Amino acid sequence: KAGRGRYRMFESGMDALLFARREMEIDLRRALALKQFKLNYQPFINVTTNRVDGFEALLRWEHPVKGNIPPLSFISLAEENGLIVKIGEWVMRTACIEAMSWPGEMIVAVNVSPLQFKADTLLDTVATALKRSGLPAHRLEIEITEGALLDDTDNVIQTLNSLRALGVKISMDDFGTGYSSLSYLQKFPFNKIKIDRSFVAGDDADSEAILRSIASLGTSLGMAITAEGVETAEQLARIRGERCTHVQGYFTGRPMGTDQIPVFLARNDLDERI
Ligand code: C2E
Ligand code: MG
Ligand code: MG
Ligand code: MG
Repeated sequence: KAGRGRYRMFESGMDALLFARREMEIDLRRALALKQFKLNYQPFINVTTNRVDGFEALLRWEHPVKGNIPPLSFISLAEENGLIVKIGEWVMRTACIEAMSWPGEMIVAVNVSPLQFKADTLLDTVATALKRSGLPAHRLEIEITEGALLDDTDNVIQTLNSLRALGVKISMDDFGTGYSSLSYLQKFPFNKIKIDRSFVAGDDADSEAILRSIASLGTSLGMAITAEGVETAEQLARIRGERCTHVQGYFTGRPMGTDQIPVFLARNDLDERI
């Protein structure tokens, strides 16, 4: 671009970054076909009944060379290039099928990207996944972040209402981390609010006050409240004192493969912890 007959040294740092990103994109395009994705499931516990209500599906990419790549490092890339739509369909289909093999009436919670709403195929994807797997709609929860409601709000709300009409439950994920969290509660009657783990981990008086206020607000709106990222017995005890209905975190269970779920549910030491 600087014109012919010129030369310039590579900015090697920048070049390496771009190269790595481009390489990841190429790998990501092949990952579905090569069956490199897998779902792990993390339990959420109802603290009013002390029972496991269900499991959240968390996407894992097992890269043949780089090993496990966490979702936060590839989902934004998949959103930029549109791959998230196909990946999201795979997640929905797989989560519904795998949940059918779990004991009891466990719920499966599936994260949905704002981009999947834009693609306008979400309702169809969900309806098809339910029909093909045979999973009853009341056993599916969809988790959306505040980003989904940022623009095109009317369309998103229409889709949420149609999902609700199918019998699917809708949760607001990572609550409190967005720009105007409270306004979203007014826009759609979520079934559940998941309070971001930054408010659960903070053991200062301010985080505690925020957690308590969100929990009591959600309760008055008739929503269930999950405290995310509970890592210690102390945090669990603190949350029990608030109006949270559910907890989810490493303390009550790490993400696991679908095969481990029957074992996890049969283990009786869970009762001692919760
Ligand atoms: P999220 O939906 O808020 O999921 C909870 C994240 O917190 C998971 O990270 C989980 O492993 C982690 N976590 C759970 N308990 C604890 C704890 O006690 N301490 C700490 N430090 N972390 C805990 P993960 O699996 O890395 O996923 C990160 C994010 O990636 C998710 O946040 C979600 O936004 C996104 N994600 C994961 N799977 C999918 C998917 O299938 N589709 C979409 N669109 N996004 C996904
Ligand atoms: Mg989630
Ligand atoms: Mg979350
Ligand atoms: Mg999160």
